[in-house]
Amino acid sequence: MAKWFSTMRQRVSAITVIQLGFFASALIAWPIMAEMELFERFYEFSRDHEDWDVDEFSLLIVNLTIALVFSTIFQSSRLKKLVRQRDFQRQRAEQNARHDPLTGLMNRRAFAARLDETAQDVAAHPPRFIAMLDLDRFKPVNDLHGHAAGDATIRKVAQRLEAEVGEIAEIGRLGGDEFAFIFAPEIDVAQVERSARRLINAIEQPFQYKKTAIHISCSIGLMKWGESLSGTEAMRRADKSLYAAKDSGRARFAWYDAELDQQSQERAELEADLKRAIACDEIEAWFQPIINIETEALIGFEVLARWTHRNRGVVAPSAFIEIAEDSGQIGNLGLSILRQACGSAAGWDPKLTISFNVSPLQFHDPNLVQQIKEILDDCNFDARRLTIEVTESSIIRDFSVARTKLEALKALGVAVALDDFGTGYSSLASLRQLPFDRIKIDRSFVTNIAAEPQNQKIVAGIMALANGLELDVTAEGIETNEDLGYLQELSCSLGQGFLFERAVPEKHVPWLIESKWSDWQLSAEDADRLLSLPDIKAVS
Ligand code: GH3
Ligand code: MG
Repeated sequence: MAKWFSTMRQRVSAITVIQLGFFASALIAWPIMAEMELFERFYEFSRDHEDWDVDEFSLLIVNLTIALVFSTIFQSSRLKKLVRQRDFQRQRAEQNARHDPLTGLMNRRAFAARLDETAQDVAAHPPRFIAMLDLDRFKPVNDLHGHAAGDATIRKVAQRLEAEVGEIAEIGRLGGDEFAFIFAPEIDVAQVERSARRLINAIEQPFQYKKTAIHISCSIGLMKWGESLSGTEAMRRADKSLYAAKDSGRARFAWYDAELDQQSQERAELEADLKRAIACDEIEAWFQPIINIETEALIGFEVLARWTHRNRGVVAPSAFIEIAEDSGQIGNLGLSILRQACGSAAGWDPKLTISFNVSPLQFHDPNLVQQIKEILDDCNFDARRLTIEVTESSIIRDFSVARTKLEALKALGVAVALDDFGTGYSSLASLRQLPFDRIKIDRSFVTNIAAEPQNQKIVAGIMALANGLELDVTAEGIETNEDLGYLQELSCSLGQGFLFERAVPEKHVPWLIESKWSDWQLSAEDADRLLSLPDIKAVS
């Protein structure tokens, strides 16, 4: 077949070359013939030999030449079309040989080939991670909703897998309801576990088929490929861990490696505990003071989530917030914390403000604004006392969507702040395009600023920018008097950090105010700045 294609190609190009040659020689020959007066000589010759019928003969030759040219053009375009059709069929045949027709993912054969290539990579640069995923009790979906619903669900499953890990893993459909993943070389064990949690959460979200919501889950087997193994052996191990995950109750992942599996089981228990802890407000809102840098007067508090587990003791926020994000619980966690914070702050001096962090996932929840409004109403909390802090990762995906959301929040009367300013790639673009009231300079630029000339220049630049845009600036991570002195010189307005106070639970706030800010009075200027936001508008 390949030989036939190349012969066909050669023929087409030969004909094209002949055609071009013909036209080129005609173009070149024409002026030479004219120069040599060949046309006149031919005319005289034909006159001299009228009995030879030279005219008719030459006319015949001209006609034949024209016919040949047209036939060549026609044949050439027909052949080109034929070659195009064959090329398309060949591509389709190759596509079918490598891809699963239902989902478009790599099929078992292509995936096995990629595994063999990966085996060579692993020998040179271990480790790599692979995973196998199988839908739980998928057969009843076909039985209950029909095969077409099953097919549509498998197609959507593939799309969700791509959306969750497509950028960091190659994905194949091995057949039936079974999928497999080869993670990119730079992906480590923690990222693999996070991906597994996200995949489980993504598949647990209902699949809409016509008017029916189909609920399924999946189990995942993970394998750390750290030694020289064939692709087949690596898959056998991943398969074994997949069935361990199925055996231990489904909707979970398991490692082939016993030690990793032990650690992941502990984290799985933490995840289960987290669900319970959020439901019973065991994760508490704590409050870290924000002060006026110039006067050191108390302005308000940043709200932070803290979890003291009944048996485990204090769980680091970084650990449980990550699990909450991956397992889809961050929305509930955030709302629980905000409700507690507004409930507490409603009883304090009405001039004290609170700042609340919204995670990227929560920011994209279409119900966020309505949920915040309900909490403000339920707690009878003045919206102007609340600042919502978002990080750049919440907004860079789509500035216009972010603007709509921020404007809806501002319409509630809430202020909006850009958190961790300076750490992302497009902080300036964010400020230019979005209606922020405040920026928070990341602690990495602030802590120990007096000894870091580079950071001094960056913070001075941020201050100049913020002044130009008439934005309030809060510096995070002020730990020493030197840090404070430097920020005072730069006329930074607000600050927070261990120098003033760490986060404290709600019950310590009155004591803190009494002991540290007993002569506390919010200056008219601060009150004006913090509460002089636009009139509160109703959210439709
Ligand atoms: P388990 O939790 O043990 O995985 O249970 P299960 O029902 O998912 O069983 P299993 O994975 O062994 O079987 C997969 C089922 O998925 C079998 C078949 O009913 C269904 N299935 C497999 N391939 C397709 C497909 O291409 N389209 C549809 N609609 N269904 C499929
Ligand atoms: Mg299955």
